[in-house]
Amino acid sequence: MTIKFRIFASGSNGNSGILSTPDGALLIEAGISRKRLFHLMKDSGISPADLQGILISHYHTDHCRDLPIINEQLNVPIISSKGTREGFHKYQSYDSRWVSVINNTRTLPPRTPLEFGTFRIQSLPTVHDALGATAFYIKYRDIGFTLITDTGQILPHHLDAINNSMFSLLEMNHDIPALYRSQRSRSLKRRIRKTHLDNGQTTSILSQIDQDNKVLLFGHLSGECNSPLHVKRELLEWGEEQEEFPWDCFICRRDSPGPLLMLSGNDMLHTSEQSLSLKSLKENRRILQPKKDLLSYFP
Ligand SMILES: [Zn+2]
Ligand SMILES: [Zn+2]
Repeated sequence: MTIKFRIFASGSNGNSGILSTPDGALLIEAGISRKRLFHLMKDSGISPADLQGILISHYHTDHCRDLPIINEQLNVPIISSKGTREGFHKYQSYDSRWVSVINNTRTLPPRTPLEFGTFRIQSLPTVHDALGATAFYIKYRDIGFTLITDTGQILPHHLDAINNSMFSLLEMNHDIPALYRSQRSRSLKRRIRKTHLDNGQTTSILSQIDQDNKVLLFGHLSGECNSPLHVKRELLEWGEEQEEFPWDCFICRRDSPGPLLMLSGNDMLHTSEQSLSLKSLKENRRILQPKKDLLSYFP
């Protein structure tokens, strides 16, 4: 049995990722072009015919821009909150294909899991400026996946989900000094602070994440007010105060897809030069030594 998980794009210019299992695949967010999506699926060895459903966290266009065309081509159920489905209505006047998106959308009640084929999907409401915005906890067999972006706060149900997941995507949207130095208006800066997590907020919850074998991905980085280097620095600072750095971590870049993470039996592999076994990770938690060692964890 091989499970694949990959973030194709993460950030205000487009979000999308996929979870592929022997029982089918789920697309999570449709904020990139159909052409790019199909190319990245092919690159990951996943066929469009495997898709069982499309999860949309909220109606901002960076999460659903190409949903009408993807829906037209794949015609699989779309799963979102009631508020997100209502939000789709405002796009109908620009593109009539949104009518079919709306008709095809199954709504997810807040906090009650939806049994969807062999997946269990749970909505995790977020603090964001879109009605019904949510994060997701997905369970496939005994493996949990959590995707949390576009939230001004990490809430207790987010932490519970992360602690029950092997793979989690967490938002690190902006670096506060970089945001305040930027040319953005005061009102926009205020809005960003309320609706997206800064690097420090996300780092501050790391000590509450248990140290079972986990993969943490950091994403939805702002192009103007953040960079992979800012994120690395924040994690290094946090790591220096710890005895060990217990997880495998990746930073999702805005301009290129993340690693293809594959779980096969007890082994976790990813498509970069590193290949890690979960067992060896458990036995040899990586001891934080010189900074450059930690830096090498981020391909
Ligand atoms: Zn977003
Ligand atoms: Zn948003």
